[in-house]
Amino acid sequence: MARALITGITGQDGLYLSELLLSKGYEVFGLIRGQNNPKLDLVRATVPEVKLLTGDLTDLSSLLRAMESSQPDEVYNLGAISFVAYSWENAMLTTDVTGKGVLNILEAVRLYSHDDPHKVRFYQASSSEMFGKVQEVPQRESTLLWPRSPYGVAKVFGHYMTINYRESYGMHASSGILFNHESPRRGPEFVTRKISQAVSRIKLGLQDGITMGNLDAKRDWGFAGDYVEAMWLMLQQDTADDYVISTGVTHSIKELLDVAFAAVGIDDWAPYVTQDPRFMRPAEVELLIGDSTKARTTLGWEPKVAFTELVQMMVANDLVEQRAQAGR
Ligand code: GDP
Repeated sequence: MARALITGITGQDGLYLSELLLSKGYEVFGLIRGQNNPKLDLVRATVPEVKLLTGDLTDLSSLLRAMESSQPDEVYNLGAISFVAYSWENAMLTTDVTGKGVLNILEAVRLYSHDDPHKVRFYQASSSEMFGKVQEVPQRESTLLWPRSPYGVAKVFGHYMTINYRESYGMHASSGILFNHESPRRGPEFVTRKISQAVSRIKLGLQDGITMGNLDAKRDWGFAGDYVEAMWLMLQQDTADDYVISTGVTHSIKELLDVAFAAVGIDDWAPYVTQDPRFMRPAEVELLIGDSTKARTTLGWEPKVAFTELVQMMVANDLVEQRAQAGR
């Protein structure tokens, strides 16, 4: 039975990846941070088979212990402080966790597999936020990186450190440059879930409107359930490499509002939406659109859920959730 260790197990991707690996017969270990982590119950309820280990990406000794107790064949580093807007307010912490945390886990993997650099296969969750002020459209593996937030800068560090460990020590370390990926499990601070929750509450008469930031930014949004499949595929290759994972289609926040409001039968969202500088960012990533040709040809991966279906899925889920909460 293959064993996998996942950091960031409490997040959307951690849960989908756990389900995928469990369905393939893996023994799955998840690293969980802190005392009384509020997401612990969610993980236990969603994937009770996952074995939880205590540890923190900023604490190398805890990572070494996690390696020793799980003895993994594959390590997926999904743990990070991942909300871009928050990263300006907590730039140092974001750098420590999202950036230096990658070095810590790489070092833990290297020390654990000192007798055989191929003992463990490693996946780093890199991000399209690394492209920031995009230097090429669409963005691919070779596009120059120009991050626009402390989060993006920290992800660039992790990305290059992963490549460096591969080249320095011959480790099977791959980096997935994932474009935005969403699901009913997405945190409510991200724009897709913020909108799907608000639209559902508006439909149910629980809320009057929604306050937004920049409506012109464009993103390449895919479904998280499809994207974790790509992570797994990267670690099944003979050779480690870097891959862009994206749908290749971009939409603005306005189009996202169109589809989300239409899903509850509202054609004109203007009366419900206001804008507030509070939700604007000091530097914005205006346009993301990925070219995932390499992943499609080499890994045989392709996204299954398209934008409209994804947004409708999220709204449908939130309608059920919000109705249940209101009835309580
Ligand atoms: P990101 O691409 O990782 O930063 O994902 P987000 O979902 O947080 O943001 C996507 C885009 O939506 C960014 O360009 C934001 O500036 C834009 N946006 C506009 N209004 C909002 C808002 O109210 N909340 C968030 N999170 N993003 C917003």
